[in-house]
Amino acid sequence: MSINLKSPVFAGNPIRSKTPKSTDPFSPTSAFQTLKLLLSGQTHVQGPSSPKFKVLPFVKGRPLAGSTGDLVKKWHLGWLNFSDFKDVLEGSEVKLSDDLLVYLGYKSNEKEHDQEQEEDEEDSVVYWAIDVSEGFSLVEKLGSRQFCFVDLRTLMVATDWADDGAMGDLAIAGHARALLEWHNTSRFCGSCGEMLIPAEAGRRKQCVKDSCKKRVYPRVDPVVIMLVIDKDNDRALLGKQSRYVPRMWSCLAGFLEPGESLEEAVRRETWEETGIKVGEVVYHSSQPWPVGPSSMPCQLMIGFFAYATSLEINVDKSELEDARWHSREDVKKALTFAEYEKAQKTSAYKVDQMCKGVKKERNLASDFNVESGELAPMFVPGPFAIAHHLISSWVHQCWWLWVASDATSGGFGCGGGPMVVEGLGSGGCSQLVVILRGVGGCGHYS
Ligand SMILES: [Zn+2]
Repeated sequence: MSINLKSPVFAGNPIRSKTPKSTDPFSPTSAFQTLKLLLSGQTHVQGPSSPKFKVLPFVKGRPLAGSTGDLVKKWHLGWLNFSDFKDVLEGSEVKLSDDLLVYLGYKSNEKEHDQEQEEDEEDSVVYWAIDVSEGFSLVEKLGSRQFCFVDLRTLMVATDWADDGAMGDLAIAGHARALLEWHNTSRFCGSCGEMLIPAEAGRRKQCVKDSCKKRVYPRVDPVVIMLVIDKDNDRALLGKQSRYVPRMWSCLAGFLEPGESLEEAVRRETWEETGIKVGEVVYHSSQPWPVGPSSMPCQLMIGFFAYATSLEINVDKSELEDARWHSREDVKKALTFAEYEKAQKTSAYKVDQMCKGVKKERNLASDFNVESGELAPMFVPGPFAIAHHLISSWVHQCWWLWVASDATSGGFGCGGGPMVVEGLGSGGCSQLVVILRGVGGCGHYS
């Protein structure tokens, strides 16, 4: 069994697919002008066809969230409409200014010409994020509305990956957190040391000094993440770090260095951490990762299969606690879906309790320490991490059908055959194309 996601977790943001032209009322420029007028006290600036504004407050990188549901708890983002938001801020420590609000995107309600207008149709909306970390009194005020500020990792684990709406909310929160954390950590110009101020509705920053005016754009940090494979013995290399929760093993990973290709980074990191040499490197997929430290507001995880050309492990203990070869069968057992589902439900319940003011947030690591007699001896990261999909894709290759390189025999066999694989996502066996060497044909298996 593998989990098929429409897009990697934190990608597929439903409100940032395209940036409208500057003349469009939804564009950052136009929406920002309207925002300024609203903030100056003009309430008539938004006509019936103008977009409405919704605001998502953050405290220290944590988005405002609420929760619904009786038996099955579901979190959702705590969007406030603009007038509500102004009411909440009144008398608080936060002095609202256009500098604080960051444009996230929009959702238009435009209909086809032949489509009838529905009465309950939602308004077109432009979405904003704001950091209200200074507003201590807000937490209580919003708490009385059954909203609370929740760590993005908690929301990530609490998200039902089969729920498109929740996955969309998670992507929006990730984008917003990345932007706000970048604003917080990029306060001064790297060229002249003067202040940087937000520009283009918070989509970039600019130095205030007239002779400098340096433009600064949001930071993204590329990370290579690889599943190192021993093809001949049908094993994969997994590593363990001391910061991981007990029993968890994962792919190796490391930051790209300047002047380095992705393939070089994969080979260098694998060699440095485990002493294993890598030959062929094959791209798998990528994933934005906005839940790292605030100094790196958004990492881009770039996933690869890396084929080992040497097998002896020599772990660099300063980088890894341990690294071992694991058989396909063992890794398959480690994909323990029951544990992911349990962690998801536990976290969703926790968010619900927090929003109702019942429980303070705990360290998420404890979620995987659930007492159970059915614990697998090891497990790998859940479906929210690209490591899961790299590992799952490899594990499910065991069911691949391939045609023996001696195709004249007409038989199907097991082992390393000549293969071209389409869409190596988590689709598993259903997306295979096998090239038949010797006969030049190809077959699709599903
Ligand atoms: Zn400057």
